Amino acid sequence: METVAPQKEIIDAIKASGGDAFKSCYQCGMCDTVCPWNRVRNFSMRRLVREATFGLTEIDSEDIWRCTTCGKCPQVCPRDVRQIESGVALRRIATEYDVFAGGARSIPGVAASLRAEGNPLNEPRAKRADWAQGLPVKRFTEGMEVLYSPGCYLCYDPRARKIARATVEILDKAGVDFGILGADESCCGESIRKTGDEALFKSLARQNIRAFIDHGVKKILVSSPHCYHSFRNEYPEFMVHFEVVHISQFLFGLIDEGRLPLTREFRKAVTYHDPCYLGRHNGVFDEPREALKRVPGLELREMPEARQNSFCCGGGGGRIWMETPKGERFSDLRMDQAVGVGAQVLATSCPYCITNFEDSRLNRPDGDSIEVRDITEIIREAI
Ligand code: SF4
Ligand code: SF4
Repeated sequence: METVAPQKEIIDAIKASGGDAFKSCYQCGMCDTVCPWNRVRNFSMRRLVREATFGLTEIDSEDIWRCTTCGKCPQVCPRDVRQIESGVALRRIATEYDVFAGGARSIPGVAASLRAEGNPLNEPRAKRADWAQGLPVKRFTEGMEVLYSPGCYLCYDPRARKIARATVEILDKAGVDFGILGADESCCGESIRKTGDEALFKSLARQNIRAFIDHGVKKILVSSPHCYHSFRNEYPEFMVHFEVVHISQFLFGLIDEGRLPLTREFRKAVTYHDPCYLGRHNGVFDEPREALKRVPGLELREMPEARQNSFCCGGGGGRIWMETPKGERFSDLRMDQAVGVGAQVLATSCPYCITNFEDSRLNRPDGDSIEVRDITEIIREAI
């Protein structure tokens, strides 16, 4: 057990890092009743909060890295302890002391890749637009309708790239005047911020803001709820405001305005998983469902934990970069729920969710009986 400094010093460090709300906690334990970790193993946000209040945080414990920032416990906390922000404050201290326990040992490598290449996947910045080869994709120029910002996973990850390609086919079909910034775009920085690396987040945000302003960007279309959250809610901290729209909203708008007729059938039972950063954190619940409902032949089924109560895939808060042992993966439980409602397709709208669900699907004996799809991929099949 290691605390970075005896009581008063760590209490001051937590306060300085933005975790002062810890002291409002009265230990009711409501947070632990809703936390997805307690469906797979013991974990107590209540205990973390208590230890921090007394300056007894063990920064070499993996527990400070567990929270996926899913947003469930802040919904039920009667004292507005702001568990996510307060938990990130503990990670800021660990980052400052260069202490990364358990699964978080991967974080320094991710941060190095973000610093050097602007993405967490250790890929060259120069190849950021390679996914678009052979597609009708232009470079963004001032005056275009929208900047399409696919985000790191859709630029580099082989599975997620299919989503970027499907998006382009749809935008092209609907006659949307869009462009990309390619190598001039960097990671939005949302997830590295949640691991406590505030300086790196600021550096990535400034790079993006400079690129957006230099290119005359006004409206940004994103595929990742993490980019959506950070461009929309965090970049205004830098005194800039861009119109940000998530692909699920944009698709629904195109369909609703008659710009994107859906003519082909997709005759399957589909259940929709609300990504934490699209749903709970940003209130986008209806547009993805409404877009799916417009697909001819598609039958939409709800899982018991939906919308505000959606069950986290496990990928937020930087956990997408941390190894989670088998038996502790939230996405495995979510796949059970999708299979349980008889879905042939688990649809979602987030690259982290897609990554985790595809892993879970591959590890299931009945994995061939269910598909994991981004809603963009389903809409593309219907045009
Ligand atoms: S729900 Fe809020 S007040 Fe209750 S134990 Fe958790 S952090 Fe403390
Ligand atoms: S935000 Fe989610 S993962 Fe984090 S402690 Fe709260 S319920 Fe658990």
